[in-house]
Amino acid sequence: MQRTLAIIKPDALKKGYAGKIIDHILNAGFTIKALKLTRISPAQAGAFYAVHRGRPFYDDLVQFMSSGPIIPMVLEKENAVADFRSLIGATDPAEAAEGTIRKLYGTDKGQNAVHGSDSPENAEIEIHFFFSEAEILQNSEA
Ligand code: ADP
Ligand code: MG
Repeated sequence: MQRTLAIIKPDALKKGYAGKIIDHILNAGFTIKALKLTRISPAQAGAFYAVHRGRPFYDDLVQFMSSGPIIPMVLEKENAVADFRSLIGATDPAEAAEGTIRKLYGTDKGQNAVHGSDSPENAEIEIHFFFSEAEILQNSEA
């Protein structure tokens, strides 16, 4: 079993897609191990996306991710990281495959509805950005 961090981004929440996106995730066989409705400050968004500092879209990304509520989630499944990236589709919703979450619910390349970790190592780092281990259900619980 593997874990990944998903985030429903502010655009999708504002448009009322959170329930549909969670349904999509559950139907794809992921188990939700932790979930919260929260928001992050520009400084926190900047730290979360620090790897992109200096890129032309960085300031917009930080502003966007701190512009409204988000729903971070810990998801578990075999091959969770790669399978979730497949489920969400390409970064640009216009290029994402039919039926993917970004194709269905994304707005544009910046406001693309969801985040998914890009490696198991980054998944564990990103999970602990939002959740302590005590907040995450363990296999004995669910
Ligand atoms: P992904 O989220 O698919 O892993 P990246 O890690 O490359 O994509 O980028 C992180 C986030 O930054 C994207 O999900 C998107 O919100 C934003 N972003 C990336 N590239 C661009 C771009 N060229 N223009 C605007 N926003 C972008
Ligand atoms: Mg990425």
